[in-house]
Amino acid sequence: MDFLRPATWAEALEAKAERPGAVPVQGGTDVMVELNFDVRRPDALLDLNRVAALGEWSAEEDGRLRVGAGVTYARLIAELGDRLPGLAQAARTVGSPQIRNRGTVGGNLGAASPAGDGHPPLLAAGAEIEVESAARGVRMIPAEEFYLGVKRSALEPDELIRAFWTRPAGGPQYFSKVGTRNAMVIAVCSFALALHPAERRAGTGIGSAAPTPRRAVAAEEFLAAELDWDTGRLDPGLPRRFGELAAGAASPIDDVRGTAAYRRHAVAVLARRTLTWAWHDLWAAGPHEGPHDGPRGRVRRPGGPVAPGDPGDPEKPRREAG
Ligand SMILES: Cc1cc2nc3c(=O)[nH]c(=O)nc-3n(C[C@H](O)[C@H](O)[C@H](O)COP(=O)(O)OP(=O)(O)OC[C@H]3O[C@@H](n4cnc5c(N)ncnc54)[C@H](O)[C@@H]3O)c2cc1C
Repeated sequence: MDFLRPATWAEALEAKAERPGAVPVQGGTDVMVELNFDVRRPDALLDLNRVAALGEWSAEEDGRLRVGAGVTYARLIAELGDRLPGLAQAARTVGSPQIRNRGTVGGNLGAASPAGDGHPPLLAAGAEIEVESAARGVRMIPAEEFYLGVKRSALEPDELIRAFWTRPAGGPQYFSKVGTRNAMVIAVCSFALALHPAERRAGTGIGSAAPTPRRAVAAEEFLAAELDWDTGRLDPGLPRRFGELAAGAASPIDDVRGTAAYRRHAVAVLARRTLTWAWHDLWAAGPHEGPHDGPRGRVRRPGGPVAPGDPGDPEKPRREAG
């Protein structure tokens, strides 16, 4: 097995063009497990760790963040947690400190597992994936078009993931995950919600409850139409209906981690809870000032405590297992 070690992004793209079968390695937390278990035996590994550009992130002129594929979960939490709270919450649930110190959202995207925890927040936030090949240059792929099937993505064999692009949170974001214990566990199912008050809409992402991570589009449309963005009043039936619509968007399977019926039920519960938490956060700071300002919600510190028994929260917020 050849071990290719490009020093620059240009060299990495050249190497991938010459050897499309070469398997990229970033943190190696998926790749090395696959090699150890003989899931695959590629002719070549393409180690991206010397490509410094992949480990950088920047605030771009259009206001979006461009986060290199090699930024680890640990750095994402520490450096971008205030701007990407939903993704940071998801990152906190990934593996263990060791895995978070090596693993990356880029690798999560490369693996494209339906259970990957990075995907639901990227979908909810409307992120785009920047991929590049030596032959055709850069392509920007909306997250919802990136996932094609179980562990299959829109990435071509000669392409590499350069970064993901997303706006800093404009409102509360939540990620919630059900697992059989609190750490080192693959999600039984997960759900991400991002409120976009300036646009009076919400984004969603479902994980581990369909062949690919996916949005709950009907549930998003329901929120855009029914949420009372002027007064903040939350009709008690609304989160429940939102949960039902979110569950309707899932198409889970029975497997060792859970039954399809349980997953559908759990997605409904997670959707209901995340909406209640986010809506409460949004209005905790008081009413908004004008039709286009949106409510002035505070963005909760990622992974920080949610005050138990907050008024208006019918279900005591608590951390999901995961
Ligand atoms: C003990 C353990 C616990 C885990 N827990 C979780 C968890 O809770 N949640 C979760 O989501 N995942 C979990 N994982 C899986 C893994 O840590 C994540 O998927 C992580 O995001 C992978 O990132 P990485 O940088 O290590 O990727 P790598 O292993 O380096 O690569 C993963 C895949 O992406 C490809 N790839 C990497 N970089 C690029 C690039 N720039 N361009 C194109 N393709 C690329 C690789 O070829 C490979 O197919 C766990 C793994 C272990 C071993």
